Amino acid sequence: MKPLVLVVEDEAPLVTLLRYNLEREGFAVSEAADGEEALLSIAERKPDAVLLDWMLPVVSGLEVCRRIRRAASTRVLPVIMLTARTDEADRVRGLDSGADDYIVKPFSTSELVARLRAVIRRAQPSMAEDVLRYADLSMDLTAHRVSRADQPIHLGPTEFRLLQHFLRYPGRVFSREQLLDRVWGEDAELEMRTVDVHIRRLRKALNEGGGDDLLRTVRSVGYALDRVR
Ligand code: CA
Repeated sequence: MKPLVLVVEDEAPLVTLLRYNLEREGFAVSEAADGEEALLSIAERKPDAVLLDWMLPVVSGLEVCRRIRRAASTRVLPVIMLTARTDEADRVRGLDSGADDYIVKPFSTSELVARLRAVIRRAQPSMAEDVLRYADLSMDLTAHRVSRADQPIHLGPTEFRLLQHFLRYPGRVFSREQLLDRVWGEDAELEMRTVDVHIRRLRKALNEGGGDDLLRTVRSVGYALDRVR
């Protein structure tokens, strides 16, 4: 069955464009033009993911997200916020609202689809794939192999886990502290610069065969797996 995505956006041309692109990528699409309609639609038929615009009439996207999180039946429903705001502080605030991810307009269809698949996959572990992909990068979790543009990449165990974490959250920025917690474990007594050392090794390994740098350094914030813009 096709995954159902609820698009909550008041700009009709953008809704049309999103519907066209998402349907072409194998999703079913439902629509809501404001927050109230979105909440009604979710109550009626729960989607697999919600694409939620930040700027909506009546009830803001942020408020819709909070209400989705408050209701027991939708607490874990994947939500991606769409926004025109670009700075990293807003990005973090968006995630604090309970959104699973955050995407800044204008965005590419491939980026949107990658993030949608990632949030849906995380919400439905039974549908977990054995291969994680981003851009020309792929990680086979069963065979424990990584390749870029079909060329094998050899990673140490820490770099492997680091990349695996980034591949589960494409485009999302993580602070050094968050990476230490999630990749090394909460009990690890390590210094922040340990993260920098392993990021450097990972970046070197990923870029060895040429190609764009896929690890974005966000000054005084952290790192993301992202096409450097
Ligand atoms: Ca809007």
